Amino acid sequence: MPPGLRGPGGLFPLTQVVESPDRVAAARSATNNQWRRLLDRTMRGRETNDLKRSALVFSPHPDDETLGCGGTIIRKLEQGATVHVAYLTDGAQSHVPLMDSKVVKSMRHLEALDACGELGLSEAHVHFIDLPDGHLAEHGQEAVDNVRELLDTLGPEEVFVTHRDEAPADHRSANSFVRQAVEVSGSVTVIWEYPIWRWNCWPWLGLGEGSWHHPWAVAKAVSKGLSSLSLLTGCNCAVEVSQVLDRKRAALEMHRSQMVRINGDQNWDVLSDYSDGRFLEMLFQPHEAFRRYMMPGNRRV
Ligand SMILES: [Zn+2]
Repeated sequence: MPPGLRGPGGLFPLTQVVESPDRVAAARSATNNQWRRLLDRTMRGRETNDLKRSALVFSPHPDDETLGCGGTIIRKLEQGATVHVAYLTDGAQSHVPLMDSKVVKSMRHLEALDACGELGLSEAHVHFIDLPDGHLAEHGQEAVDNVRELLDTLGPEEVFVTHRDEAPADHRSANSFVRQAVEVSGSVTVIWEYPIWRWNCWPWLGLGEGSWHHPWAVAKAVSKGLSSLSLLTGCNCAVEVSQVLDRKRAALEMHRSQMVRINGDQNWDVLSDYSDGRFLEMLFQPHEAFRRYMMPGNRRV
């Protein structure tokens, strides 16, 4: 444990919590700050500036590309790399039944193009595979075939895909199918896996106001929080993105259906709803974190 983290209260000042909302909030804030410092320090030690290689980013849904690696895409483009983004599913189920899935699908297509434009990509560098949102696992062969076709056509030196430990089924399927396709294709050397929803388990994020009065909620949060620490060991590489966070934010704003309650409908989920906005905050840290590794057996280095 880094000595700098051993302040009053140690890593777990929440153990000092008493039945006082102010003290609970203060203790939670102190704990979050300590974990943030640990995260920043760890990621600083894993920074890479090796961003010139061409890349193909696979995004399970429109918005994952920006949330997980928008800053890295911007920085790679700044360094002259060619970057493409491919969406595996159509994102059509995000707000059913509040809106017809066909309408959501076309809306998210346009949003994705706008977001990629903000990141610096032209429409020719954006690809829609359009498999059914929420059911990627049932379309494994189609996914692998489509991914392989893109790999063969574009010949990227690196591939980005959602982290293997992500909770949403589409995110895990994306990881599995993309890695299968890369293995079959044998042409890509470096895989970068990016976490998204894992950040919603970062210590204590999921615990809302008042939850401390429910032992089961505390137990669940502690369990998720501790398992989220695997992000520190599961991500061996980080890209410093603090200079481009405004552009990343502008790109995310383009995913309007995920950011704004369409027609003012209070039942319309937006990303800032999760963990009272602290989930989104974790995706706008100074670093984007990755599990990066060489694909064994592939031919290029
Ligand atoms: Zn997603």
